[in-house]
Amino acid sequence: MRMILIGPPGAGKGTQAKQLKENLNIPHISTGDMLRAAVAAESELGKQAKDFMERGALVPDELVIGAAIARIQQNDCKSGFMLDGFPRTLPQAEALDKALKAASLSLDVVLVIDVPDDLIVSRIIGRRQDPVTGEIYHLEFNPPPAEVVDRLVHRPDDTEEACRKRLSKYHAETAPVIPFYEENGLVKRVDGVGEPIKVTKRIRRATNTDN
Ligand code: AMP
Repeated sequence: MRMILIGPPGAGKGTQAKQLKENLNIPHISTGDMLRAAVAAESELGKQAKDFMERGALVPDELVIGAAIARIQQNDCKSGFMLDGFPRTLPQAEALDKALKAASLSLDVVLVIDVPDDLIVSRIIGRRQDPVTGEIYHLEFNPPPAEVVDRLVHRPDDTEEACRKRLSKYHAETAPVIPFYEENGLVKRVDGVGEPIKVTKRIRRATNTDN
């Protein structure tokens, strides 16, 4: 299955992708994770992306498109992939379309996770990640176990100011990607409010992957 996850920052895309990939057996490809790894490794891509990311701005298309397309051309994506955080702009969607067409491939589903903006801000500000396990917690909604608290990381772009910028980018640049896919009848929308396990069930139902 070739699937795209779209939703505002903090919609639960990463959390849901982790659940879904266990059954679907396809890699979860997050361009945000790829870029954070590039920043940590101080690669050329990382050096160019760092500033944009910390400000809550989008990394320029020409940097992200090459990295994302190269990733889905790797062997582990032969039977499918779950793209999280890409495409985030219309030029990215068009580039993905072109690359898939050139390989005679197509998408199966574009899953949109909807969460209202006011809830997003409180989810993002309390979000912390365990750098050892990759597990994502929320100080209030999903408190971390005491033994990992000291090593948790607060993403530099998870401040209220950067979050609001990322939300406005989402509405201005990413939301217009949805009608692009609606034309092909690929879009399934799911309510992302509520316990993660309930959202997973809605997604499985919407994507016919609940058996
Ligand atoms: P995420 O983990 O998906 O919230 O992404 C974190 C940050 O990485 C974003 O705020 C952007 O700065 C950058 N980023 C991730 N994916 C993309 C993309 N497809 N296009 C542009 N910037 C991206």
